[in-house]
Amino acid sequence: RSWITDAQNTWCPGCGNFSIQHALKAVLDDLADEGHPPETFVLVSGIGCHAKIADYMNMNTFYSIHGRGTAAAAGIKLARPDLTVISCAGDGDAYAEGLDHLIFGAKRNTDITVIVHDNRVYGLTTGQYTPTSKMGFPGRSTPAGVRESPINPLEVMLASGATFVARGYTRQMDHLKSILKAAILHRGFSFVDVLQICATYNNLTDYYNERIYLLDGNDTGDFDAAFRTAREWDYSSDAPIALGIFYRQEAPSDIWGPPGTVSAEQRREEIGRILQEKI
Ligand code: SF4
Ligand code: MG
Repeated sequence: RSWITDAQNTWCPGCGNFSIQHALKAVLDDLADEGHPPETFVLVSGIGCHAKIADYMNMNTFYSIHGRGTAAAAGIKLARPDLTVISCAGDGDAYAEGLDHLIFGAKRNTDITVIVHDNRVYGLTTGQYTPTSKMGFPGRSTPAGVRESPINPLEVMLASGATFVARGYTRQMDHLKSILKAAILHRGFSFVDVLQICATYNNLTDYYNERIYLLDGNDTGDFDAAFRTAREWDYSSDAPIALGIFYRQEAPSDIWGPPGTVSAEQRREEIGRILQEKI
């Protein structure tokens, strides 16, 4: 099976987007071998360098608008609960324009997987700071350096009710693949912040390589422990950077009830009725 289209790839050489694409491809391949047909996956993207993945992956894709990937993915999942919906987002995309959608996706425990390509910069628009840019980052819109502390997306997601919260890194490919696979298989809202290299505007390779460590045995539903681990590093400091699954907890995830309670036809009718009432 070929997961990569022949569209011309315009990511910069060395971009971390390649790593995320290859990790995802490998995971989808594995899942297909394990009985999940390729046509049952849908990949949603937002706007930004990451979003071109919708053009480059040979599968069902939906190129949404800036920050709204979570909302589009939630809509697809509501209408077609039989599909496995994965939403790739950028850090500006997910944590600035789309933060409200992300929080409500987590709050509702919508059964989708959100993968944030977190290069901590707006790459497509040539280097402005985002909500996760390091304090002092000399972006194009902040030549004297960012004066704000970055937000910690793992804390935000834990506080919002996400039932699967993890962090990966594009220079730890096997580890990244294992996290993405677990995230996709988790029933409920899965969130993965992927520390990604932007080779052109924010290459933090040395900074990450000197600080990362792999979590061992933290993969539990212990919320307090997950929160403590998430707070070790604030996206600016020199503290060790944990990679792995911080939190995983089964919880009800479908507003329609367990699978089979409401048929696909009934869902479509109900969604149509709601839309008509709103328009
Ligand atoms: Fe990748 Fe950065 Fe180039 Fe965008 S600008 S394609 S994120 S290296
Ligand atoms: Mg970015």
